[in-house]
Amino acid sequence: QKEQLLKLAEVPSVTLDGVSLTLAANISSLKELEAALANGAQGVGLFRTEFLYMDRTHFPSEEEQFEVYRTAVQKLKGETLVIRTLDIGGDKQLDYYEMPEEENPFLGFRAIRFSLERRDLFKIQLRAVLRASNYGDVKIMYPLITSVEEVREANAVLDEAKRELQEEGVPFRGGIKTGIMVEVPAAVAIADILAEEVSFFSIGTNDLIQFTLAVDRMNEKISHMYEPFHPAILRMIRTVAQAAKAKGIPVNICGEIAGDVNALPIWLALGIDELSLSAQAILPVKERLLRAKASDSRSLLERLFRCGTAKEARELARQFHAETA
Ligand code: PEP
Ligand code: MG
Repeated sequence: QKEQLLKLAEVPSVTLDGVSLTLAANISSLKELEAALANGAQGVGLFRTEFLYMDRTHFPSEEEQFEVYRTAVQKLKGETLVIRTLDIGGDKQLDYYEMPEEENPFLGFRAIRFSLERRDLFKIQLRAVLRASNYGDVKIMYPLITSVEEVREANAVLDEAKRELQEEGVPFRGGIKTGIMVEVPAAVAIADILAEEVSFFSIGTNDLIQFTLAVDRMNEKISHMYEPFHPAILRMIRTVAQAAKAKGIPVNICGEIAGDVNALPIWLALGIDELSLSAQAILPVKERLLRAKASDSRSLLERLFRCGTAKEARELARQFHAETA
């Protein structure tokens, strides 16, 4: 079974009726990149850089980060590397940096909020990313965006980093693309406005589900309420996809739900451009994709958006999968 799947690593990810869906990887280390490539990943859709900052005694230097990003982009041989800027805070802490005591760390000082307050550290990361962009196709992604201002402020720091490098005569690729994680309901609600500011969207369903349903993603007690097929979540994904299409920017999904083969027809019908998956999820999804017809998926979508409950929606998707797979 596993060997059968591995044979698919080199096969292009296209449906029976010729619709391509890029299957990229989520990674948090160079080691995970190796596993992703062995499974036929078409680039990296989410490099979680916080792991470069954890398990050590100090913030990684520009040089240390540059080495890792450059190695990653070189291993990708022309495929895209999406580097997400530091998403620290929430459940992820640093041993060497005292974060404020917070009642609600997931709603607190984290991700882009941290970077915009510690612009010195943010700029070091952006300089390292820019330098790595000289070696391949690198894109920058900002986490936990809730407003247009955050995007503009982050881009202003990026511009500063570019100016510095230019003055120092350090090479980087001009026109590096910036995108955002859509993982907070506010970003969904203003997706049409945000689409004017960025080059791509990546829907982070792990956090989007947590914030939309008010269900702590780490809390076992309420884990039964953590429901990707909740009609609210499906509608939000549709809203984001439509906003992206209207503006002509690509829209990706990088949360865990992207690895659920039952959900694949939904992505096809909504015109999602890329899924970013853990290494083990790539080939099972591709195996399903190769036997799917995007045109068939549209009939599922109509019925899906008439479902009033997550249970109905999930069952419908499962049934559609069983019938068409
Ligand atoms: C997400 O929130 O869906 C996501 C992909 O990012 P993380 O799991 O790192 O928060
Ligand atoms: Mg997230």
